[in-house]
Amino acid sequence: MPEFVLPAGWTSRTLAAVRRKLLAWFDAHRRDLPWRADRDPYRIWVSEVMLQQTTVAAVVPYFERFLASFPTVAALAAADEQAVLRHWEGLGYYRRARHLHRAAKDLAAAHGDALPDDPAVWAELPGVGPYILGAVMSQAFDRKLPIVEANSLRVLSRWFGYRGDPREGAGKKWVWKAAAAVLPTARVGDFNQALMELGALVCSPTAPACGTCPVAKWCEANRLGLQAQIPPATKAKKTVEVREVAVVIRDGAKVLLCRRGPDASRWANMWEVPHGEAVAGETVEAAVRRVARELTRLDVTSGPELVTIRHGVTRFAITMTCLEAIRKAGTYHSDFYAEGRWVDPHDLKDYPVSSPQRRLADELTRASRQLRLI
Ligand code: SF4
Repeated sequence: MPEFVLPAGWTSRTLAAVRRKLLAWFDAHRRDLPWRADRDPYRIWVSEVMLQQTTVAAVVPYFERFLASFPTVAALAAADEQAVLRHWEGLGYYRRARHLHRAAKDLAAAHGDALPDDPAVWAELPGVGPYILGAVMSQAFDRKLPIVEANSLRVLSRWFGYRGDPREGAGKKWVWKAAAAVLPTARVGDFNQALMELGALVCSPTAPACGTCPVAKWCEANRLGLQAQIPPATKAKKTVEVREVAVVIRDGAKVLLCRRGPDASRWANMWEVPHGEAVAGETVEAAVRRVARELTRLDVTSGPELVTIRHGVTRFAITMTCLEAIRKAGTYHSDFYAEGRWVDPHDLKDYPVSSPQRRLADELTRASRQLRLI
């Protein structure tokens, strides 16, 4: 395992001075965020789970709505998973929400609302990896555990002039060692947050404000002018264009909504209008009839286009053409979905769906409202 070593000339006093500087900067510049109001482990935990893969600005309204509905771990544990997913809708990476919910059930059953100051308990919970463990334990209980995420990874790499890629292999091990080595013995949670905050507010990926940085004097990347090279840029993955169709199957005033099973690789237990990839050379109408038959065993007559939605999933750029269709023959049955329901379009707001499906549902609700007005 690669060892983390302090730069030449550094002593433990240098490190202590840098810690003091960074904490003083944090005290003066920390953003006033709702999960920083106190050291409630439940609030910190929820915020940290939401913040994985998501920006602070996007998380704040979600966090406030979530805490308003599920103010304690017991309230979250008692909630229906569909309600939890509905609150998470739009944040993406829904597995995080299901893990959070399952972990809340485990914690509430064993500890009630008094969340334990015990890393061994937290480490066993679904969805709790080294980052969440360090973030919750250090911020709520001042446990001396490191964290590494995109911001602190960048700061540590530049600070110590690490030339490898800290996101993988030996570099990943190095950065966790560095994050542990720089921790103070007190105010650990604040120090971890200060590293992340410095990365978010000062040490940005492409335009670090070294002139105002509290650790500039001790920063190797700054000394060598290597901010643009450290850390190395991630290799952009090639985007793949995908053509999809979605089929809004009508039966009278109702439309068919389907739920994915709990083991689905994506959007597990969430609802959707049936959709699938169009085959090369296939017309949209033919694709709609085929997708309806394959996913629901219903024969349909394809109708007008409702909306076309462009969205991205990992490296796939998806163009989803959504058509209305009338059920012609057959009874709903699916080997793909766990459940199908005929619902009033005005009730779609009650079901957790993915972001593109929400745009489709909103369009459908609008169209149904106009039909009623005619
Ligand atoms: S001096 Fe510049 S590169 Fe170094 S940590 Fe500060 S902002 Fe980042």
